[in-house]
Amino acid sequence: MTEEQMKLPTVGQPLQPPKAITPTYKANWPVKAASHSFFEKALLGEVGAEDEIPTSNGFDHDENAEEEAAAKDAQLGEEEEEDAAGWDMGDDLNVEAESDFVNVDSAEAGAGSSDAELWARNSPLAADHVAGGSFETAMQLLNRQVGAVDFAPLKPRFLEIYQATKTYLPANAGLPPLINYVRRTVDEIDSRKVLPIIPRDLETIASVDLQEAYGAMRSNKLEEGLKICKRTLHSLLVNAVSTQQQVGEAKKMISTASEYATAMALELERRSIPADGEANLKRSLELSAYFTIPKLEVAHRQLALMAAMKLAFTNKNYSSALSFANRMLANGGSAKLLDQAKKIKATCERSPQDKLDIEFDQFAEFDVCASSYTPIYSGSPSASCPFDGSKHHSQYKGKVCRVCEVCEIGAPASGIRLYISGT
Ligand SMILES: [Zn+2]
Repeated sequence: MTEEQMKLPTVGQPLQPPKAITPTYKANWPVKAASHSFFEKALLGEVGAEDEIPTSNGFDHDENAEEEAAAKDAQLGEEEEEDAAGWDMGDDLNVEAESDFVNVDSAEAGAGSSDAELWARNSPLAADHVAGGSFETAMQLLNRQVGAVDFAPLKPRFLEIYQATKTYLPANAGLPPLINYVRRTVDEIDSRKVLPIIPRDLETIASVDLQEAYGAMRSNKLEEGLKICKRTLHSLLVNAVSTQQQVGEAKKMISTASEYATAMALELERRSIPADGEANLKRSLELSAYFTIPKLEVAHRQLALMAAMKLAFTNKNYSSALSFANRMLANGGSAKLLDQAKKIKATCERSPQDKLDIEFDQFAEFDVCASSYTPIYSGSPSASCPFDGSKHHSQYKGKVCRVCEVCEIGAPASGIRLYISGT
């Protein structure tokens, strides 16, 4: 091998030392003004010169006065007293350092001074307890208010609130950051009334979460939609509002999310049924009929009716198909859908018979059991979820609700609390 055949690797740039991201020297840090020690003053000839004593703030003033007194004592020239003044100075310094430390400590973690502790103490709302880090009491409140028994699905919501209510400011390297507690009562000075900010307020839920659920319904992404509905329910369960009027709005959103969750679950259940066999077909036809029962927006109910009508028609259940077509025509809406409904209606009217007898009475009022997906006709015993109001056959009393996955069906409950009067 010759020298020409050897290839040396190209040497890159040397690594740069890391640069400071935040130029802290520019920041407006609160700085405690330092005063000269007694010895420095003595050396500078400042001893006894009153106007030279720097006054930083009220807190230091007493010590300055003591220093001044000590300085005057020293001026007397009495050796014993001078010594004493010198020792006193030392004592003073220690006291100062200690009292500073105690102050910081009490501001951060002392009894009654941390916002996190105040939040839990000031509020009967589960959300405020979660924000304060008191998950245990939050769960007790939820259990009492809405019969919540399974808290695992609420974990993301708990952590979301806990994290959103604090900001951290890194101060010195090696020391813990400064914690800032974010309040929703920004103008409140009474420590008995301070409360934390709760992320995902009603406006966000109405304009983001519910719209996402509607979008999923429109675009037939029901699995995703079901997840969004459940997340919305959990956001509403652990929340806080600022007026009594908003409590009504929140309850309305809870029932909307619950209706959509039930509807989507019904349709997903239908899609999971195998296509063969008469029993499966019967169940499939029933579920598609029940899908039209939950109280959805008219545009979405038309989609459900359309699906049910087509399925009934292709399986020669003309009577059911006719009832769905009539309901679609009564609802009105897009001309394309109504045209199809009219055509099917015209065909079905010639022989309005169901080929397969299904458990669906088109003339009766009923709710759909959210546990078994079967009808609960009015008058028959049922139990509801204390939180989302979904109905279940009474045999499911004591089980965890399938809609919210948190609450016990038929549990004794005082009702959801989202609002503290007087705030
Ligand atoms: Zn429920």
